[in-house]
Amino acid sequence: MSNSRFQLAQKYIPGGVNSPVRAFKSVGGEPVFIQRAKGAYLWDADDKHYIDYVGSWGPMILGHAHPEVIDAVKQAADNGLSFGAPTESETTLARKICELIPSIDKVRMVSSGTEATMSALRLARGFTGRDKILKFEGCYHGHSDSLLVKAGSGALTFGVPTSPGVPAALAEQTLTLPFNDLESVETLFAELGEQIAAIIIEPVAGNMNLITPRPGYLEGLRKLCDDYGTVLIFDEVMTGFRVGLQGAQGVYGVTPDLTCFGKVIGGGMPVGAFGGKAEIMNHISPDGPVYQAGTLSGNPVAMAAGIKTLELVSAPNFYENLTAKTKSLLIGLSNAASSADIPLATNGVGGMFGFFFTDAKRVLSFADSVACDGDRFNAFFHGMLKRGVYLAPSSFEAGFVSSAHTENDIADTLEHAAAVMSTLV
Ligand code: PLP
Repeated sequence: MSNSRFQLAQKYIPGGVNSPVRAFKSVGGEPVFIQRAKGAYLWDADDKHYIDYVGSWGPMILGHAHPEVIDAVKQAADNGLSFGAPTESETTLARKICELIPSIDKVRMVSSGTEATMSALRLARGFTGRDKILKFEGCYHGHSDSLLVKAGSGALTFGVPTSPGVPAALAEQTLTLPFNDLESVETLFAELGEQIAAIIIEPVAGNMNLITPRPGYLEGLRKLCDDYGTVLIFDEVMTGFRVGLQGAQGVYGVTPDLTCFGKVIGGGMPVGAFGGKAEIMNHISPDGPVYQAGTLSGNPVAMAAGIKTLELVSAPNFYENLTAKTKSLLIGLSNAASSADIPLATNGVGGMFGFFFTDAKRVLSFADSVACDGDRFNAFFHGMLKRGVYLAPSSFEAGFVSSAHTENDIADTLEHAAAVMSTLV
């Protein structure tokens, strides 16, 4: 059944999907078409039930179709879908973000993570009067031209680190270095630091599986940016309100100049945002000369979903509980792997996790992630899918746990994992 749906989709949509990773190219086979979702579960178009660890790639931290979020969206929709004029709901969400995240004085809403990082970069370039930027191999910051250089996520899966269509002259302004290697950044800055407008980084990298920063790495980047007048941008599109209430900057205690958000702050609606010090944000139009705009930016229905989501994740112990669930999932996966004599490394922060089929004790970079056993991952993925556990269809993606996952869901998942691990070669 899914087969014919996918064939029809391919007739009218390039590759049958509206975002490449959904096509299952990396793992092989055909994508599952989803019909509805509730809590920790998805149902496909044939009504098969799955425990979901993708969570729409991160936004669904409260689980799917949370009743309070759906109510907020319905109420907002009743008042009209878009006005193209200011609404109080935009101020409410912006204020909430500013109050929760100490590094943010002002925040501008956009409609996707891609727009957030693209705009933050333009702002950093406009603010510093410099063109060059530094990013890290395997970090994905959306698909704007400057950032589609040695990117992770779908770009990694397809082995196209730099996409055709990105002008060479622009890509030249994007310098790339390995993640987690501070020395290489120090060497680069000694030579070119005064020409570099921004360092942009996923403080916890979630687009080359899940890789955490080495102790001192983010602090070292902060110091270099201070020394050279470079803007430090944390791309917290994935980690924001996912690894903790103050994002990765709260977890690691390092303060960026600008932060990008997406995913969780829209509760499943198309939302992104970028914010930071007023001194920098005041350069954005209409106050300043750096142009940035959006017909649907701050959309009232999306704001309603975001406000309710941030209200609910602000509940006491929300992240402690989420972290405990992630931990029990990872401990269980490690145990299942060792019982089956399969070498496995795991990483987790807050409600985000990664697992690697590798002998290595730690996975610290893109090169380490690529060196893992992709075939074994694919076999595991398909085994789990068959048993009703929906994992990210690529070994280069992080997984996500929501507050709706119960202990039973985790136990069921681990039972399936043990069964599948025992079949892996
Ligand atoms: N930045 C990071 C860290 C991401 O993970 C993503 C998407 O996965 C983006 C930016 C781009 O966001 P969007 O897909 O909403 O454009």
